[in-house]
Amino acid sequence: MARLESKGGIGVFGGTFNPIHLGHLIIAEKAREALNLKRIVFIPSRYPPHKGTPEIGAIHRYRMVKLAISTNPYFITSQIELRRKGISYTIDTVRALKKLYSKEKDFYLILGLDSYLEIGAWKDIEKLARLIRFIVVKRPGYQIPPHTNYTSNKVSSLPVKFLNLGPIGISSTEVRNRIKDGGSVRYLLPKNVMDYIFQRHLYE
Ligand code: ATP
Repeated sequence: MARLESKGGIGVFGGTFNPIHLGHLIIAEKAREALNLKRIVFIPSRYPPHKGTPEIGAIHRYRMVKLAISTNPYFITSQIELRRKGISYTIDTVRALKKLYSKEKDFYLILGLDSYLEIGAWKDIEKLARLIRFIVVKRPGYQIPPHTNYTSNKVSSLPVKFLNLGPIGISSTEVRNRIKDGGSVRYLLPKNVMDYIFQRHLYE
């Protein structure tokens, strides 16, 4: 577990980002600071394995991520999953990133507790766990199981670090629903992302 604290690694933050919201940015910045990461790579998923195809195309979601991270020099985004055909599996992405950043040793996968609780169903999860460390962020409505012994989905041996950050009650689902209902999304999204959405009438 001590190596989890090592300095200067790469954070990998995958998501549908449909759309990206301030919760994503807060989590990424907190992880960067806590682990002293050199970079966080935001990776919009083209076809998320467990969510169905998002109604908003991947290129819009990617552009919104780009806008959202534009003021943070530590944040970058990658089209790696947009360019790859078929379902966007994290194992394929992490392998590709490790080739790309071949001089780096430490890679951290940042994910919310909701995603973490489903990790047993991910493709090649045990191989993935040998390539990258999991940094998990609490999320309202999701509980860390008291015994945290995932023998049934074979993740009991995964080294996991829980990021000490109060739960953040923002989700892309809430943002989409509010826009559909004509509600306010101010302070849930960066302003430039809000403008992008409204100019193109996305999610209406
Ligand atoms: P949706 O509401 O459409 O399911 P989402 O808000 O979960 O979307 P994603 O792009 O699917 O957004 O999330 C990317 C990653 O960020 C996932 O690992 C997810 O668990 C995490 N995440 C997103 N929002 C939060 C939040 N408020 N707290 C903790 N983790 C979050």
